[in-house]
Amino acid sequence: MAGHGASDTATTTATDPRIGEVLATWWGFDRLRPLQEQAIQAALHGRDSLVVMPTGGGKSLCYQLPPLIDGATDVVVSPLVALMKDQVDALEAIGYPAAALYSGMSQEERLAIRDRLVAGELRLLFTAPERLVNTGLLDLLAGVGVRRFSIDEAHCISQWGHDFRPEYRQMALLRERFPQASLHAFTATATPRVRDDIVAQLQLRSPDVLVGTFDRPNLSYRVVPRTDRITQTLEVLGRHAGEASIVYCISRKETEKLAARLAAEGILARPYHAGLDAKERHKTQEAFAHETIDVVVATVAFGMGIDRSDVRLVLHTSLPKSLEAYQQETGRAGRDGLAAECVLLYSSADVFSWESLVRKSAEESELEPDEIERLVASQTEHLHAMRRYAQAARCRHAALSEYFGQAYGTEPCNACDVCLGETENCADSTVVAQKILSCVARVGERFGVRHVAEVLRGAKTDGIVRHGHDKLSTFGLLAALDQRAVENLTHQLLDQGLLGRTGGDRPVVTLNERSWEVLKGGRPVVLLEPRSGRAKASKADVDDWQGVDRGLFERLRAWRRRVADARGKPAWTIFDDKALRAIAREKPASPAALLRVKGIGEKRLADFGAAILDLVAGKEPAE
Ligand code: ADP
Ligand code: ZN
Repeated sequence: MAGHGASDTATTTATDPRIGEVLATWWGFDRLRPLQEQAIQAALHGRDSLVVMPTGGGKSLCYQLPPLIDGATDVVVSPLVALMKDQVDALEAIGYPAAALYSGMSQEERLAIRDRLVAGELRLLFTAPERLVNTGLLDLLAGVGVRRFSIDEAHCISQWGHDFRPEYRQMALLRERFPQASLHAFTATATPRVRDDIVAQLQLRSPDVLVGTFDRPNLSYRVVPRTDRITQTLEVLGRHAGEASIVYCISRKETEKLAARLAAEGILARPYHAGLDAKERHKTQEAFAHETIDVVVATVAFGMGIDRSDVRLVLHTSLPKSLEAYQQETGRAGRDGLAAECVLLYSSADVFSWESLVRKSAEESELEPDEIERLVASQTEHLHAMRRYAQAARCRHAALSEYFGQAYGTEPCNACDVCLGETENCADSTVVAQKILSCVARVGERFGVRHVAEVLRGAKTDGIVRHGHDKLSTFGLLAALDQRAVENLTHQLLDQGLLGRTGGDRPVVTLNERSWEVLKGGRPVVLLEPRSGRAKASKADVDDWQGVDRGLFERLRAWRRRVADARGKPAWTIFDDKALRAIAREKPASPAALLRVKGIGEKRLADFGAAILDLVAGKEPAE
């Protein structure tokens, strides 16, 4: 790839002292992360850049900080309105002059922003790609003399990515219209091929390519064979009582069913999906942001706009369709850098549903036949990478890093089910496998997973009686297990290619060469015990609570909620959990000590210093 490749060379420019100053006064941070430093230097020197940093890596600071230094007005292009609004809220909390232009604003609001823009009051203007190119906004920006454009979620421009958005292609216009301006592309998930495509599509000029580390050491990953969605969900949520959690489902119906079930158990949970009306969705988002609910049960429609940084659990009850999607969705956990958990309930049945869905939606699109085939091939490839991840009995951190093209050097990671030794093999895997395979043979390779499992369990269903399958020698061989466990074991055999399956609407399980090797005893099998998670604490989780006064932390949280409610802002924009834990650990007793706590700059000290010092001293804060 063209460019400086600054991530692998050691040519960092000497730190500009103004950067540290701005960082401390506005954000209360004591230093930049290494790639942030390089990205900010590129911006300040007008060099194009492509910044690939995992979620939580700190991309936003890279475009937020430069205009404060040189007084410029910069533009950030972002795909979703909710995302922009959240950022503007968070920026306003530190007194940063920023605004967002989006559809659905009143004429008045729009004009007010234009006035501020023309008067040079804004350091950042957020807008959506279609709005940028289709509304005469470019003329206005040319008049103001904008010299830097940042394109967030830049992978949306590539058809090799997992989230291609045709309207992003229009960004190519920026280079033509603003030949003097520098362009800065940001994304969290880009394989090398997608990176090259971003550079080509945006016509970046010898960009500084800054690629961060994909690993998120504070997240612990678990993959648990799915046996019972509801029971397993309750069990995992039980580890995170009172904490922010996101539970992802594939279908809208599932989100509603599961949310209702959780609510019945007394959990503060609500569903979220694109089929709900905008008002309802907004209400749920706000309730989550304001901590009046703990759990959102959602389709993937939920997330892009969710910046709540203290999400402690992301639970997938079905398989995501790509590792990019998984990385992005799990990336919403632990953005404050504190330990968080990511659990995937896996069943290979999901792979089959996705496969037929991928084809169906491609065929329903208006693409040409050869384009349809290409799309199906690309999406199937993404899906199978996801499946391999779920099935592999190897370190999850290593597997994820390697997928994104990075070696992982610290196995065992102490933060995944495999390295923590939680996965357990079925004691007599080979024998169990043989029982299942011979049952498939006995029913003549003409039935699906469910029927085979019912025969093995010894269920007297109508179908079984009608076909005389209750007379088979394999009838009731696995009567000690329940239906889900037997289905799960059968799916594991499918996953490992030890059993075949036909396509179509009513797939039938079949034997293949490898099945026969197992049946003849020439091939040992390893199956995982269908289990629900017995999770151990990760090292990060233990460390993050080290020395924290939990009572004080909870009091600070309650206070934050009140302040946020009074201001009508999401709680995390007032303070994130990391800052609150630092306060509850260090118990600062003076304004100067408070200023030394990470995440507290001058604006926050002025706004909240007195209240926090009261809380630390055990007093009720004066409002
Ligand atoms: P991204 O956009 O890459 O997902 P964010 O910009 O939202 O990440 O940053 C993630 C978190 O890290 C935020 O809570 C942010 O305040 C924090 N953060 C960013 N840069 C720094 C820094 N230099 N020092 C301390 N915290 C930082
Ligand atoms: Zn591991």
